Amino acid sequence: MDGILLSKKIGIIGGGISGLVVGIFLAKEGHQVSIFEKKSLLSETSSKTTKLLHGGLRYLENFHIKEVQKGLNDRYWWLTNFPQHTNKIKILIPFKNIFSLELLKFYIGIKFYGFLAGKKRLGKSKLSIRKVLQDLNLYNDYKGHLSFFDGVMDDESLGKDLIHLAKELKINLYENNEVSNFDTYGNIDNKKFDKVILAVGPWTKILLEKNKVKSLKDIDYIKGSHLILNKKIHSGLMFKGICQSRYVFALPYKGYTLLGTTEVKVKSPDKPEIDSNEENYLIDSINQAFRDHVTRKDIISSYSGVRPLIRSKNDFHKSSRDFFIQQDSNLISIFGGKWTTSPSIARKIATIV
Ligand SMILES: Cc1cc2nc3c(=O)[nH]c(=O)nc-3n(C[C@H](O)[C@H](O)[C@H](O)COP(=O)(O)OP(=O)(O)OC[C@H]3O[C@@H](n4cnc5c(N)ncnc54)[C@H](O)[C@@H]3O)c2cc1C
Repeated sequence: MDGILLSKKIGIIGGGISGLVVGIFLAKEGHQVSIFEKKSLLSETSSKTTKLLHGGLRYLENFHIKEVQKGLNDRYWWLTNFPQHTNKIKILIPFKNIFSLELLKFYIGIKFYGFLAGKKRLGKSKLSIRKVLQDLNLYNDYKGHLSFFDGVMDDESLGKDLIHLAKELKINLYENNEVSNFDTYGNIDNKKFDKVILAVGPWTKILLEKNKVKSLKDIDYIKGSHLILNKKIHSGLMFKGICQSRYVFALPYKGYTLLGTTEVKVKSPDKPEIDSNEENYLIDSINQAFRDHVTRKDIISSYSGVRPLIRSKNDFHKSSRDFFIQQDSNLISIFGGKWTTSPSIARKIATIV
């Protein structure tokens, strides 16, 4: 059989970042790929992110080390392959108390984050004491800051480039095409494929059960919301929200500030919307850090998405963002993951198709 390309017919349900990147990887391997998307490509969870390409510094707190490392490798993949839509960003973590366990924990965290990235590290992480963050206009009681580097993306232009690439690779893209039925034999509605990939983000468990396939994972639906504020900042900032247990990001975004996110358990992934508690939480949190207060009048827009977190013994705030692949004969289903780790999902699927 040497030299014969075993090209397979692949049907992908879902045109978010997972479906699109998996499709691109498989098409590059010579498979014939079709993607069926209910709405338009990349219009659901994949357009509702914090726009970070990251391993997730805060997941180190729960020792999700392999997951963080995967994210750091993929972060490098995005920055290397799509330099025109991605960038590195310096993120500051201001602190008020020099002699706190929290500071020590974060110092070890940023150093370990850099160590895990190895040669793919984006810059040196640092501790700066007594350095007043004047240009940021933070409250005076901050005694210094830690800083580290991560990746950011312009998801709109990056998304357009990915769709263009998919077209160049002759992937059949069917938008506004909701799939009603699929099975483990390779059928999607009335079409036959060698393999079917279910890449429907937060809808995986729901669609598996609707089509009488047992879901191996339980899912918690966790809504996350963001605000875009009419405020210009020059560095990324990560600071404690008013609940004191979660961290919030304020990132420079097209001349404004992107502020997020929240974690609210919801019953369904459909039509997530920011509620007034989340708005208050985000505004009160940023006002706790910055001297020039923002009000609701500064909100330019907002958006919400739902994370499908694989249920674990832990409280959902500590759940892993790692992905899981379920295989049932010719049906391959994707659970969880991040925008950043879609190349890892694609590499894994390419080995089992
Ligand atoms: C608040 C928030 C912040 C986040 N921030 C980041 C971040 O900064 N960095 C990062 O790396 N990740 C982040 N993530 C995670 C990231 O958004 C997701 O991992 C990623 O977008 C999931 O992509 P997906 O393709 O699996 O799902 P989706 O983007 O939801 O795509 C699934 C698609 O399936 C379609 N679909 C559903 N049912 C059907 C059907 N019956 N037929 C056809 N199509 C169907 C949907 O319309 C949808 O387009 C964040 C997530 C949230 C919620």
